[in-house]
Amino acid sequence: MITRFAPSPTGPLHLGHAYAAILAHDMARAAGGRFLLRIEDIDRDRARPEWEALIIEDLQWLGLSCDGPFLRQSENQPTYDAALDRLWAMGLLYPCACTRRDIAQALSAPQEGATALIGPDGPVYPGTCRGAARHGPRPHDQHLRLDLAAALARMGARTTHFLETGPAQKGCIITDTASYCQEIGDIVIARRDMGTSYHLSVVLDDAAQAVTHVTRGDDLFEATRIHVLLQQLLSLPTPIYHHHRLIRDENGKRLAKRDDARALRLYRAEGATAQDLRRMLGIPAFFVS
Ligand code: GLU
Repeated sequence: MITRFAPSPTGPLHLGHAYAAILAHDMARAAGGRFLLRIEDIDRDRARPEWEALIIEDLQWLGLSCDGPFLRQSENQPTYDAALDRLWAMGLLYPCACTRRDIAQALSAPQEGATALIGPDGPVYPGTCRGAARHGPRPHDQHLRLDLAAALARMGARTTHFLETGPAQKGCIITDTASYCQEIGDIVIARRDMGTSYHLSVVLDDAAQAVTHVTRGDDLFEATRIHVLLQQLLSLPTPIYHHHRLIRDENGKRLAKRDDARALRLYRAEGATAQDLRRMLGIPAFFVS
């Protein structure tokens, strides 16, 4: 078993991150497997080395030792480029110059009829640029979207599936062609400002790190449908997924990086121990033999 913790160094880790990291760590250790770290720093504008350093310190304080060297996404661009070239050569990507506002306007146009659905990345894209040229060199000055219908047709598949072991939805999760097109739509695979996307990078990196079990928050459940599709398109293995509950504040709101009040470094500064944190999160103490 190989699990991973994949934080973005864009702010301090909070209780929700601690929960995700501890679950992934304990799962691997209990199975005699490996627990890996990946720094998801593709958002160059927001990622900072000081946040990365704090992540390492927090993990040490939590008593979670990582196996092997960690992978930093900002150093893995050649892998993302190679996959994008492949998808572009298959004719499955198209350039898109739409702004959020263009999309909102297209979706609110009366002829579009029904109210817009919200997918994993926001409103489901109405397909405005789907007819854009797909030949010649891969464009770098616009976002690249995945033509979902074409991708599914190319695979000759009507469904994708993955195994889920999380508390909310256990078993084999199946997504069919219609749900992909209606609920997810043509998602952005390479952002103009990043040269990749969360979805593409996470899929390629999980494969590069040979991750067998992905543990992540429930908020990413819908995104996993995209990841499984990308794995099939790129002939990569699909790990087993475990979507865990989200840690919420006393008002039921899910914690975010801006909730500095729950930053691990503050608990650490107040003298709390890793076992105190486990108790707060309802995770049993872990004893390494
Ligand atoms: N980097 C993501 C985050 O900080 C998690 C990625 C994942 O688990 O796939 O929430």
